[in-house]
Amino acid sequence: MDKVDCVVIGAGVIGLAVARKLAQAGREVIVLEVAEAIGTVTSSRNSEVIHAGIYYRAGSWMARMCVSGKHALYRYCAERGIPHRNCGKLIVATSARETEKLQSIKAHAEANGVLDMQLLSGEAARALEPALACDAALLSPSTGIIDSHAYMLSLRGEAEAAGAAFAFHTPMIRAKATGGVIEIDAGGESPMTLQCGLLVNAAGLSATTVARNIEGMPLDRIPPAYLAKGNYFSCNAKAPFSRLIYPVPEPGGLGVHLTLDLAGQARFGPDVEWIETIDYAVDPSRAERFYPAIRKYWPTLPDGALLPSYSGIRPKIVPPAVATQDFLMQGPRDHGVEGLINLFGIESPGLTSSLAIADHVAEFAGL
Ligand SMILES: Cc1cc2nc3c(=O)[nH]c(=O)nc-3n(C[C@H](O)[C@H](O)[C@H](O)COP(=O)(O)OP(=O)(O)OC[C@H]3O[C@@H](n4cnc5c(N)ncnc54)[C@H](O)[C@@H]3O)c2cc1C
Repeated sequence: MDKVDCVVIGAGVIGLAVARKLAQAGREVIVLEVAEAIGTVTSSRNSEVIHAGIYYRAGSWMARMCVSGKHALYRYCAERGIPHRNCGKLIVATSARETEKLQSIKAHAEANGVLDMQLLSGEAARALEPALACDAALLSPSTGIIDSHAYMLSLRGEAEAAGAAFAFHTPMIRAKATGGVIEIDAGGESPMTLQCGLLVNAAGLSATTVARNIEGMPLDRIPPAYLAKGNYFSCNAKAPFSRLIYPVPEPGGLGVHLTLDLAGQARFGPDVEWIETIDYAVDPSRAERFYPAIRKYWPTLPDGALLPSYSGIRPKIVPPAVATQDFLMQGPRDHGVEGLINLFGIESPGLTSSLAIADHVAEFAGL
């Protein structure tokens, strides 16, 4: 049986960042990935936004990891030439009630350590984005966009340069944890059994299933799993904006917002659709709800401009009735299994937080 220091389950952005961190700290690392390549699941089905950290509950892991992860990610991209743009974002109020809310959003952001938010009048916002309809706005200068695939390729390259190995087409089937040693059965084309001292479960949507398949992991420490799909529509008209545009959030969601890719192409979404089974098809009829919402801030959006695009699925660990969730990162002290780290509920802002999450895993591992 092969023995290795650390096994990471999943080569999404989180598993990659963790593998890089552990390998650079001198640990021997193998990443097991069921798919044929890195980043084929949620890590390639998101908005590619570097979030500022505005809305998350003060003191939550999301708030802390997003703010520290954002700074680390900008630094990482700048040092390595990873395509990204610190384009900024406007949160736009289109009624007196929403204008009142901007002040409290700014205060909330400040409590999270986002100290650069600026309140703008409607005219000041239009001086930045002339096509915008709004009464007032909040500018978030530290929001940006990133080529997430270039970022993941870089993480993989650095992990491999530090000695990490990747096994694709290799699902973790089951594991058994006893006295600090974890024995893993992996399937796929070349099934193998591995023994390791540290197992990091970064399996994204499958993290709860992976945890259930680890003998010794107490079932009552595994959260329930729910799926919240986010649908995107692309726009066949050139959107006249150079910043990301978000409405004032409503209970239950961020509203229909506009994000840009690095080529300047606009997309709208993601919305929130609770589903029972994984299905990435985008229902074109959902566009009906997008048009009126977008026209509040972009009145000249042409009819027929929205085209169904792609979707991603949020790994929820709280049911629809619960408005917010947090990252749930468990080490041995949380579940009692020596050598096991579980990463549950890593939805947005997981991409932004990835380097900070990897640092946290390293702390769990005593590095
Ligand atoms: C609609 C949407 C929009 C988002 N937008 C943003 C955004 O703009 N900014 C931001 O910061 N974050 C965003 N996020 C969040 C971000 O995309 C995720 O937090 C991040 O991609 C999660 O990465 P991951 O590595 O945990 O999961 P994944 O990318 O899903 O990777 C998990 C990997 O584990 C593998 N795996 C699963 N089971 C096994 C097994 N048994 N054995 C081996 N391998 C296995 C899978 O094949 C997969 O490759 C968004 C998320 C969604 C859904």
